[in-house]
Amino acid sequence: MKATIAVLSGDGIGPEVTSQAILVLQKIASKYGHEFTFNEAPMGGIAIDQFGDACPESTVKTCEQSDAILLGAVGGPKWSDPSAAVRPEQGLLKVRKHFELFANLRPVKTYAALNQHVPLRPEFLEGVDMVFVRELTGGLYFGPRQDQGDGDTAYDTEIYTVAEVERVAHVAFRAAQSRRKKVTSVDKANVMASSRLWRRTVTKVHEDYPDVELEHVLADACTMYLITRPASFDVILASNMFGDLLSDEASVLGGSLGMSPSASLGAGTFGLYEPIHGSAPDIAGQGKANPTGTILSSAMLLRYTLGLETEAKAIEAAIDATLASGARTADIVTRGDAYISTTEYTQTVLSNL
Ligand code: NAD
Repeated sequence: MKATIAVLSGDGIGPEVTSQAILVLQKIASKYGHEFTFNEAPMGGIAIDQFGDACPESTVKTCEQSDAILLGAVGGPKWSDPSAAVRPEQGLLKVRKHFELFANLRPVKTYAALNQHVPLRPEFLEGVDMVFVRELTGGLYFGPRQDQGDGDTAYDTEIYTVAEVERVAHVAFRAAQSRRKKVTSVDKANVMASSRLWRRTVTKVHEDYPDVELEHVLADACTMYLITRPASFDVILASNMFGDLLSDEASVLGGSLGMSPSASLGAGTFGLYEPIHGSAPDIAGQGKANPTGTILSSAMLLRYTLGLETEAKAIEAAIDATLASGARTADIVTRGDAYISTTEYTQTVLSNL
């Protein structure tokens, strides 16, 4: 198979982790007979420095000419003034909107080898393997908002349409069909009108998927269940805001922010793949970045954009084997223990492939 991948490395540790994922994809290409072309384009702070725009038109064009985007991270102290007219994260929002990437998938899995880094007892962590499907282009983060400017009143508005909920619900049910066949839909239907529409619509879409079990859970209860019974979840479907909060909470179960991948998908096969962490300016340039989240994001790219399930599983198995062999980057060692560099860790992953 031939595929073109736009690489938006971004800032801080972004280039350190995307370069490692490219090595893994190149190894997959040679092992399984594929041809992947990587086209780099500026995004985030680096693009602001060069073009005065966090995502210049040339970058959008590179993405349009590609099958998928692999992104590192954007931002850093140099561009962190919240009142600046141009900010790194605007690039990310622009790409999500431009390609209508309305569904954000975030898998959360525990690794026995890393349980000591998780603030829960090991017996709670056994068998944890869930994926969040978060609505990404609607809801509270995109509704009308105003700071009244009188120093007294401000508001944000959550608006959802049936069509917006339906399309993301289909993504969740389809994901569940290839997993353990259970969807947990999160809302606050006891309080919010938009949540009642959400619950009604998800219940209706469920009729198309009789092989999948559906449970509705209130968002506040879900925060508890993620701690008390995390292994009971398979696919968690949530609005933009609830999904944002709950998936960050759940990512702790994976042992480190550096471990978690994500995919943002639209109606077709095009997708944006990135680790969930930021640009980590505190460790940039020191060879301490954990590339696992980005490498696992590249596995999601193979799975969801290119339909290469065997190759995606091979990468995931190589990560499992790497951790089982004791290889550790700086973020997943107990204080004082030895660790290896970003590139040494990737070499172990490559040899496990
Ligand atoms: P961060 O995720 O960059 O870092 C939080 C902590 O986790 C830091 O101590 C960092 O060293 C560590 N960490 C993160 N990724 C790691 C990795 N792969 N390996 C090892 N350790 C890792 O969050 P932050 O410090 O709040 O934000 C830094 C910058 O990143 C800010 O400018 C923020 O706006 C930006 N940011 C970008 C994205 C994105 O591009 N999607 C997401 C979050 C934050």
